[in-house]
Amino acid sequence: MLSFYTKDVCPICKDKAKEVSPITIKSLVKNEYIKELLSIEDFFYCQTPNCEVIYFKPNEIIKQEHLIKEVGIKEWSSPKTVCYCFNWTKEKISDEISKFGKTNAIEDISGKMNSIGCDCEHQNPSGKCCLKDVKKVIKELS
Ligand SMILES: [Zn+2]
Repeated sequence: MLSFYTKDVCPICKDKAKEVSPITIKSLVKNEYIKELLSIEDFFYCQTPNCEVIYFKPNEIIKQEHLIKEVGIKEWSSPKTVCYCFNWTKEKISDEISKFGKTNAIEDISGKMNSIGCDCEHQNPSGKCCLKDVKKVIKELS
């Protein structure tokens, strides 16, 4: 039987999602829950702010309660972490913009990325570089 099925669409919010590395799943999902998963491969990351799903694949959903840290992009999170490697939150960016009219988040992150190096695959729930998200937040707040 051939059914219409798209593996990159969140089963709850129906938004398209991006695949996430098994390394990210292993780093961010609680150990006791990792053991219950059949495998840590092939998960997708749901970025919809009001959707309770964090990671999904057929017959498997990972939610906030299964993770070791809060997902900043979700509406319930506080603080709203944007850069997990160098700890930039939406609150901190907003604070800088209201005090100084600008934020040096991008410069700070870019500078450290080159010198210290970032660890997005282990730290960021998306498993990817945060710069795009940080730019989006700055645009939203400016
Ligand atoms: Zn979703």
